[in-house]
Amino acid sequence: MMVALVRGGGAAVSKLSGILEGHGIPFRRVPFGQRTAFIVEAESPAAREAMAECGEVERVAVTREPFPLVSREVVEENTVVRLTTSRGTVEIGGRAPVLIAGPCSVEGENMLLATARTVTEAGGAVLRGGAFKPRTSPYSFQGLGVRALELLALARQETGLPVVTEVMTPEQVPLVARYADILQIGARNMQNFTLLQEAGQAGRPVLLKRGPGATVQEWLLAAEYVLLQGNPNVILCERGIRTFETSTRHTLDLSSAVVAKRLSHLPVIVDPSHATGRRDLVPAMALAAVAAGLDGVMVEVHPDPAHALSDGPQSLTFDGFAGMAEAMFRVAEASGRPMARGPVLAAVS
Ligand code: PEP
Ligand code: MN
Repeated sequence: MMVALVRGGGAAVSKLSGILEGHGIPFRRVPFGQRTAFIVEAESPAAREAMAECGEVERVAVTREPFPLVSREVVEENTVVRLTTSRGTVEIGGRAPVLIAGPCSVEGENMLLATARTVTEAGGAVLRGGAFKPRTSPYSFQGLGVRALELLALARQETGLPVVTEVMTPEQVPLVARYADILQIGARNMQNFTLLQEAGQAGRPVLLKRGPGATVQEWLLAAEYVLLQGNPNVILCERGIRTFETSTRHTLDLSSAVVAKRLSHLPVIVDPSHATGRRDLVPAMALAAVAAGLDGVMVEVHPDPAHALSDGPQSLTFDGFAGMAEAMFRVAEASGRPMARGPVLAAVS
C-alpha cells in the first residue's frame, strides 16, 4: 500500500484529493492526528507521480504490512496517548511505563474508593474497573452497569486518576464514553468490527486487548479499524493467548507484545492478571514487561480477593499490589525509564 501524509486538513488536502481523482486513482482519506493520511491500496508509478505533483506532501511511505495507519513504516516516532485530569497529565507510550490498576469489576462504592486510594498511593496512573463484564458463564456476575460508571466517575473525582472501563457493544459506546477516559475493547470483542468502528468515532482513546486466539497481524488489523475512523489514540494490550499449558489461565505472549511494538508506533502494554490467572505470577510478569521496554501494565487489585465477584484468584491484595508497584518503579529506573508516580502535576495547564 502507499500512504501520503499531508499536514492539517485544508487546502493541501483538497489539492491532493483533486489530483488523485483527476488521475482516476482510488484512495481513502483519513484524519490522522495533526495530519491527513491518503491511502492508496495499489502502489503504482502513477500514484507516486500524483503525490509528487501535489508538492505539499510531507511524506510518502510504501508499506509491506497490511495495516498502514498502525504501521511504523508510515509513522516512525512513538504515538503518545495523553490523558488529562484534575490532578495532571498521564502519558501512555512516552518515555516512561505506566501502571494501570483496579478491580476486575466495580462491586460497590466502598471497595472501589478504597482500591482507587490504594492505586493512587502506590503511584498508579490510571484506574481500571469493569462495569459491563464479558463473563464466560451467563450465571456469573455481569457487572453493575451504569451504576459502576457513576462510581468510576466518583473515584476519578476523588483521586484525580483517569479511568478505563470496557465497552461491550456498539450501542453502549456513547454511554461509556460519557464516563470513561479510555474505552476498553475486551479480548473477546477484538474482532467485533462494528464495535471497533463505533469506538473509533467516540473521541476517546481506545485500549484494545488482543484476542486469546488472534495473531499479531489480526490484532494490528483490528487497531487499523479504529484508526481508520480518524482516532489515532489506540493502546494495544497483550493479555495472554490460549495454549496447551494448563498451569496458567493463558500464556503471556511477551515476545508478541515486543513484536507489536516493533511493527507499530502505538503504545503496547501487558495485562499479566488475565494472562496468568494467578496472583502469585502477576508481579514477575509485570516486571518482565517493564524490563522488555513495553509501555506499561494493567493489573487487577481487590480489597478482599477471596470474596471478589470476578477474577479473585488473579487479583492482588493491597499489600501485594504495593510491593509490585515498588518493584516496578525500581525496574523502570534501572532500565533508564523512570516512572512518574501518578499523573504528573507539573503538566496541568
Ligand atoms: C478485563 O480486563 O476485565 C477483561 C475482561 O479482560 P479480557 O478482555 O482480556 O479477558
Ligand atoms: Mn478480570
